Amino acid sequence: TGGDAKTPGTTPNTGGLPPAVKEGDRMNATFVTLARNSDIWEIAKSIRQVEDRFNRKFNYDWVFLNDDDFNDEFKKVTSALVSGKTKYGKIPKEHWSFPDFIDQEKAAKVREEMKEKKIIYGDSISYRHMCRYESGFFFRHPLMLDYEWYWRVEPSVELYCDINYDTFKFMADNKKKYSFTLSLYEYVETIPTLWDAVKNFTATFPQHISPGNSMKFLSDDDGKSYNHCHFWSNFEIGNLNWLRSDAYIDYFTSLDHAGGFFYERWGDAPVHSIAAALMLKKEEIHFFNDIAYYHVPFTHCPTGEQYRLDHKCHCNPKDNFDWNGYSCTSRYYELNNIPKPEGYEKEQ
Ligand code: GDP
Ligand code: MN
Repeated sequence: TGGDAKTPGTTPNTGGLPPAVKEGDRMNATFVTLARNSDIWEIAKSIRQVEDRFNRKFNYDWVFLNDDDFNDEFKKVTSALVSGKTKYGKIPKEHWSFPDFIDQEKAAKVREEMKEKKIIYGDSISYRHMCRYESGFFFRHPLMLDYEWYWRVEPSVELYCDINYDTFKFMADNKKKYSFTLSLYEYVETIPTLWDAVKNFTATFPQHISPGNSMKFLSDDDGKSYNHCHFWSNFEIGNLNWLRSDAYIDYFTSLDHAGGFFYERWGDAPVHSIAAALMLKKEEIHFFNDIAYYHVPFTHCPTGEQYRLDHKCHCNPKDNFDWNGYSCTSRYYELNNIPKPEGYEKEQ
C-alpha cells in the first residue's frame, strides 16, 4: 500500500496504513471534479476536507477532468492528498465548444446584454461550456465509464461533520439515484425559456416521465410554470447509469438543441434537478441531512444538536440555510411527507 512516489495515483495512497476498506467491499464509485490548473489550491482544500471527514475511511478513487491538460503540479498535489487512486482526463474538444446548430452571433449578442444587466457569469463563454459539460457529458467521459456512482466535488467547499458510513452503499441499498444537501431558487434571468424546452421534451417523450415523480418540487400549478426550485449541483452523489440512460440522454439532447446553454445561461443545477424531479420516482431522490456542507455563500448544517456533537461537527447551526425563505428544501419534505428534522423550527 501507500503508492509509489514515482507513479502517483496508480495505487491507493493510504500513507502507509492498510486500506480502510477491502477492495471488494468498496462500491463501484468515484469522486469527480472539473477543474482548471489554477484551481489547484482551492481544490486541495476541498479534497483535504473530504478525505478527513469521509474518504480516508474508504479510499475511493478521484477523477479530475479539464478542458486543458492538467500540469504536473496539479497532479502531484492532488494525488498526494487523495487516499484512493487518482485519474486525470482531458475533455474532448467537441464536448467543450459551440455545437454547429448554435448561431454564434446571436450567442455573442446575448452575452453583451447579460453583461450590461450584470447577470452573474452572463458574459462568460467558458462558464457556459462548463454548465453544458456538467449537464450532458461528464458522465460519458471515458474515465467515468468504469464507474456506477459519483460524488461531485468543487473547489473551496467544506464538510463540517464526520461521515462514518459508505454514502455510495447507502444510495444503492436504498434505491436512490440522485441526492442533494442544499436547494434554492434559480435566477430567472438565466433560464427564461428552460421550462418551455422541458415542456417540449415531455410532449415528445412522455414515456420518460416517471409516475410518482417530484413535479410538486418544481411547479406550484401542476407543471404549467416552473417555480425555479433546484437542487444545488456543486454537491451531488448520484448514479451514473441513470445519467447515461436513454431517458436522460434524450432529455439533454432535446434541451441542448433548444439552445439555452448559449442563448441564455442555463445552469447544470436546474438541468439536473428537473431531470431528477421528473424522470425519477420521488423516493429515488435523497436529502443528505447528515452531510454538513458549504459552498459559497450557503451552508447546510444539521439542526440536531446531538447529531452534531456525535459527529464532531464544526458548523454553526445558525448558518443553516434549509428553513430560510430562499431555500426549497421544505418543499422536498412536504412533497415526500417526511417529518422535518429535529430542531428545524429554531432556524426558521
Ligand atoms: P460556481 O460554483 O457556479 O460559482 O462556478 P465554479 O467557478 O465553481 O465552477 C464550477 C465547476 O466548474 C468548478 O469545479 C470549477 O473548477 C469548474 N470550472 C469552471 N470553469 C471552468 C473552466 O473554464 N475549465 C475547467 N476545466 N473547469 C472549470
Ligand atoms: Mn463552485
